[in-house]
Amino acid sequence: MVFCEGSDSGRRRNLAPADETAALINSLNALDVTAKPKKSAKSGDPEGDLFITLLEQQRDGQPRGDRAETGRRTRLIDHLTPQDMAGALLPLSEILASPANAATMKEHNKVDSEGRELAKAFTSKFRKQFHRDMNAEEIRDRERLRELLHDHPDLQKEWDQLQKYFLDHVPQRDARKRALADMSSEAQKTLNAVCQTMNLPPINFEFVKQGVDAYGPLGGAYVSGQAILRVPETLYDDKIFSAKYIRTMLAHELEHHKQGTLVMAKTIEDKANGNAFDDKLIKDIQDDWKARFGVDATEEFIRGVAKCRDGHKLTPEELKQVKIYERAFEDRKEANGKVDDVAILLKMRELTNDRSPWDSLRLMSQLEDNLDNVDIGPVADLLKTFRESKGDEAKRKNWDEENARDRLNVWTEVWIRFLQIQLRQAHDSSPAEQEAEKAGEAVGAVQLKP
Ligand SMILES: [Zn+2]
Repeated sequence: MVFCEGSDSGRRRNLAPADETAALINSLNALDVTAKPKKSAKSGDPEGDLFITLLEQQRDGQPRGDRAETGRRTRLIDHLTPQDMAGALLPLSEILASPANAATMKEHNKVDSEGRELAKAFTSKFRKQFHRDMNAEEIRDRERLRELLHDHPDLQKEWDQLQKYFLDHVPQRDARKRALADMSSEAQKTLNAVCQTMNLPPINFEFVKQGVDAYGPLGGAYVSGQAILRVPETLYDDKIFSAKYIRTMLAHELEHHKQGTLVMAKTIEDKANGNAFDDKLIKDIQDDWKARFGVDATEEFIRGVAKCRDGHKLTPEELKQVKIYERAFEDRKEANGKVDDVAILLKMRELTNDRSPWDSLRLMSQLEDNLDNVDIGPVADLLKTFRESKGDEAKRKNWDEENARDRLNVWTEVWIRFLQIQLRQAHDSSPAEQEAEKAGEAVGAVQLKP
């Protein structure tokens, strides 16, 4: 389980072919028996509201130590002590880790993976029966599917069971949706208040399904340049999960937010330099970040930093920090090629096992030029066979599929692990990451309840 920082938008390639199991699950998830009563608006959590009020009072009542008498800022970020940060994150961490929310999320994760397995089994049997994949039309139009299955009672039965499973678990899906909406709005409220207190631009909180990326299992992630803090829903299945863990993770990712904010403030300082803050300048900054760091900076983030910066010129101390983070961002850009390779290998592994080694080789054949850090030698003959078949399915029939599956599995596994280890080592040893790790741990170590 790791905390992570990086950007995954704009550089991930579309790893087609389209996944009909996923499409089928989406279509099944849309199944609904009756209209559910809408949950009334949340009356507001007293503890959470109190916390926001306290922050407001603190802001209004205390003279700001960070402003000189001229009204100019003397530093960009108003850091919180670990104690204050832990206190600020306490109500949110307890909401995210409340027994009720945790139970809802765990229950849904279980239903979700069971449904996925059933859907996978169905699409695989469909393929065996019809020697092709389900098409989009059949996934969308269930009547049409029913007609198609008419002469295949086994498959029909399987389909009925699958449909029933999804219908029976509508309540779990609804409960998850409500829990996510409640937790997300609390998280957004708290993070907005914390960012405001520290003079940071707003951060966008979001839950994501996926709990793994190229670096391995994910405990929380921050997307540079976009100020997005992501929490994977699969986190709820992890033994390590607790309110304390959530506080540690949030503090860790907020530290990355500070780092990104400082670097952006420097970019603005360099680029603005008397220029009007217009679309052209924004574009200029975006191009600069893309070129230097491989990161897509959003206009929202750039404008957010400009607002917090408020004309402040970075101090020598801040510039020293900026240098360290810029270096870390540049290093991560170097790693992007490996991140892409792992994404391709993960998709190949999935195709090899969920569909066929043939489909896996189709993807490899399309993306071979992108596998820069991988030695394809050990499976080059398989790729050659696929290419020479020119889509001729007869060649596939004379092919030792089991042997191909085993070899592809060993090969993808070895390279996924090898690249993940390299990525993790580079990531963990980066000074930006180590600072975030320290900040998170300091907050996690605070004793809040004597
Ligand atoms: Zn990190």
